[in-house]
Amino acid sequence: GKVLVTGANGYIGIWIVRTLLEKGYSVRGTVRSESKTEHLRNTFASYGDKLEFAVVEDITKEGAFDDAVKGVDAIEHTASPVYATAGDPEEMIRPAVVGTTGILKSALQHGTSIKRIVYTSSCATIITVQDTPREFSEADWNEKSIDEARVKGRDAAPTHKYYASKTLAERAAWEFVERNKETIGWDLVTLNPPFVFGPTIHEVNRLEGMNASMNEWVKNVLNGVKDTKQLSDIGLSSVDVRDVAEGHVLALQKEEAGGERMILSEGPHKWQEWVNAVREHNVEVPVAGDASFDPTKAAHHTLYDGSKANRLLGIRYRTLKETTRDLVEDWRMREWI
Ligand code: NDP
Repeated sequence: GKVLVTGANGYIGIWIVRTLLEKGYSVRGTVRSESKTEHLRNTFASYGDKLEFAVVEDITKEGAFDDAVKGVDAIEHTASPVYATAGDPEEMIRPAVVGTTGILKSALQHGTSIKRIVYTSSCATIITVQDTPREFSEADWNEKSIDEARVKGRDAAPTHKYYASKTLAERAAWEFVERNKETIGWDLVTLNPPFVFGPTIHEVNRLEGMNASMNEWVKNVLNGVKDTKQLSDIGLSSVDVRDVAEGHVLALQKEEAGGERMILSEGPHKWQEWVNAVREHNVEVPVAGDASFDPTKAAHHTLYDGSKANRLLGIRYRTLKETTRDLVEDWRMREWI
């Protein structure tokens, strides 16, 4: 079959393209300008005409995806603003929401062969930043960020602006499906990863020029922005980018996944675990923290129940150590560290 991947040049998008091609699918990738196809064409030259492109300059334009959806069997929708330095929250919310409802509308009207649409959502739509420890599941929705963005507007924290954009976009997608359930010939799956880490194969030329989540990783692990206490206190859940891509392909293949939102998380970790893992590969870091930190004894403030994806997709996640090993190997090869 042929799969449309939006945001094909992004950190996660290009891994989805690669995984689909490796598994024998044809791919049509969307990017915002012709020049963004070049790196993809070079990377996947060996796949010949199994990879094609559609340039969609503005995903908020009425009918922007009308042509792109024609003739494909499924869609993986990843394109959405990620931690832009938005002033007005609407700068992020509009492309996230209208980009998502727009592609669903195009699929409804012109995607006659489409059977499934997978939307790359986020744990940002699930978590509510809270004072007490808590486990979250797919039943939870992040109302707080929507309120913050509405009430504080430009003064809302950047995190809330991004989280609100993702929450409103995913909600709009489910509402679209509900509203049109009598007429649509496809079903929707949303995948909700926490922080996504792991090797980059999109167009990046230096360690500091990566996407938002990997920038965060580099800052915290390699640049030493946290002190020893923070390293073992502050935690986050994460998942390897290759497993996120694998999840996007499995979500197309597993019948039972239809109509589900699914958390894709390998698990919670403290930053100290990542620091310890890179140091095992003799990478020097400014703040080494506490090398004897025992992750099995760590208490985590925010937990995600990832059992649904385990059950429905049967995903096996790479461990933190595997992700770290591959990051270090890649960066050494590129002479970035
Ligand atoms: P990237 O920034 O690497 O990729 C974002 C992609 O979306 C790019 O292709 C980008 O195109 C496109 N995009 C951004 N804004 C717009 C817009 N206004 N109109 C059209 N296209 C746009 O980030 P990721 O790969 O990390 O993110 C991909 C998806 O995964 C997003 O939906 C994000 O919310 C989600 N996600 C990411 C997580 C992470 O930790 N990385 C965690 C959970 C979810 P261009 O290059 O032209 O800007």
